[in-house]
Amino acid sequence: MLDAFITKLKQSFAPNQFYTDPADCWVYGYDNSRRHALADAVVFALSHEDIVKAVKLCYEFGIPLTARGRASGTTGAAIPIQGGLVLSLERMQKIIALDVANRVMVVEPGVLNSHVQAIAKQAGFFWPPDPTSSAYCSIGGNLSCNAAGPRSLKYGTTRENTLGLTAVIGNGDTIECGVYTTKGVVGYDLTRLLIGSEGTLGIISKAILKLTPLPHTKRTMRAFYRDIEAAAQAITQIMSQPITPCGCEFIDGNAIHMIRKHANADLPEEAGSMIMIEVDGSSEDLSADIALMQKACQNDGLISWACAHTAAETDKLWAIRKSLSQALRSLSPYKINEDVVVPLSHIPALLNYTQELAKTYDITIVNFGHAGNGNIHVNLLIDPFDPTLGSKAKACLNQLFDKVIALQGSLSGEHGVGIEKRDFVSKEISPASMKLMQQIKAQFDPKHILNPGKFFPNKDIIT
Ligand SMILES: Cc1cc2nc3c(=O)[nH]c(=O)nc-3n(C[C@H](O)[C@H](O)[C@H](O)COP(=O)(O)OP(=O)(O)OC[C@H]3O[C@@H](n4cnc5c(N)ncnc54)[C@H](O)[C@@H]3O)c2cc1C
Repeated sequence: MLDAFITKLKQSFAPNQFYTDPADCWVYGYDNSRRHALADAVVFALSHEDIVKAVKLCYEFGIPLTARGRASGTTGAAIPIQGGLVLSLERMQKIIALDVANRVMVVEPGVLNSHVQAIAKQAGFFWPPDPTSSAYCSIGGNLSCNAAGPRSLKYGTTRENTLGLTAVIGNGDTIECGVYTTKGVVGYDLTRLLIGSEGTLGIISKAILKLTPLPHTKRTMRAFYRDIEAAAQAITQIMSQPITPCGCEFIDGNAIHMIRKHANADLPEEAGSMIMIEVDGSSEDLSADIALMQKACQNDGLISWACAHTAAETDKLWAIRKSLSQALRSLSPYKINEDVVVPLSHIPALLNYTQELAKTYDITIVNFGHAGNGNIHVNLLIDPFDPTLGSKAKACLNQLFDKVIALQGSLSGEHGVGIEKRDFVSKEISPASMKLMQQIKAQFDPKHILNPGKFFPNKDIIT
């Protein structure tokens, strides 16, 4: 069956559009989860028609198909764990239309997030989803993972900023869903369903993105606190104000310690946490907003507060936060990075619990994240591929996820499920909802060829 599939694939695509040699396919078996599996073939789609052709071939022969953007995903979602075909969208890089009058950009899935931002900026707009990986992640990947970043606090995630999609479902049929307008209520909302579905329901070939005008001014503030409670209290105070910051980021004391050590930064010795706040607006003068934020930051645990007045000062404030990833990588190249979410009022309970877990399991845990959304990256600084540490980490994560659910939270705010979290999703999704999701999957993908082994719990899959 596989041989017949490969023969037909070679007849269907130009020679420079596919790989079948394992040495060539090898590099298309990774993503940022650092897991790997070897595909039998890789096809580079150049058009919607190529996607249809590839999906129809896989459907005919019952071959697994894994879509791939730029493989920056952290959950193994783009890894071909059952072999078969990797369908790379990286060559579909066209900006099909920039329609300023309707505040819309129409793009192919392989366009980088940063490219969308650069094109939109020339017209005075931006597309709100701003993952830190913007320079090397694709719009197709953003859509499939419902990516977000600091700005989602004010402007929403990928879901809130996408009007419509074209996609190829599991039998090769093309669906067009959503609208070209900012309103539209006809039919079920398949656009929102496809967004975040991690390539398990369809392959996205075109997206209608909703653009937002660039704010005229943005101001950045930073506050150091003695402990987590004081920072958490400030975060809830900030979010209780009648303005929404366009960013509210948090890092804990372990992270500050690490930055001090590895980035040689001059940070207060007594700092047990730090928050960064950004406000933006159409007026040049944001002094009233800044004053509100400054007041919200005040409490007994505040050590210092600063507001940047120039671009250089802004870069200096952000440099500390930005040096964190590098510091973490140099200290612990194989960390486990979770991205749980809890309601804002439960942030202290979550953060304190991670410190309890750190003691119980004798693991260093570093927390940082998009605090305004309650989205905390809980980093376990251990090598998950070490067999003893791996089982310890799993037990620790199991407890962490139970706590997150007990705090009315969610297991993932932006990274998704992929392989990494599929064994835990039943903690959050009820059996009835899970059954319905599986039935929906079967309607979109009757032969279960689209990204099999992801998203749903499946203990039988070898990874
Ligand atoms: C350093 C770093 C920082 C990051 N920061 C953030 C962050 O701030 N916020 C955030 O949300 N994420 C972040 N991420 C995660 C990741 O970058 C995002 O999830 C991104 O959206 C993935 O895009 P990609 O093109 O790399 O997709 P891939 O990793 O290639 O694929 C991800 C999933 O999308 C599917 N897919 C890809 N293209 C299509 C398509 N056209 N149709 C259907 N399915 C498709 C794949 O099958 C897979 O399931 C970060 C990652 C790194 C490495």
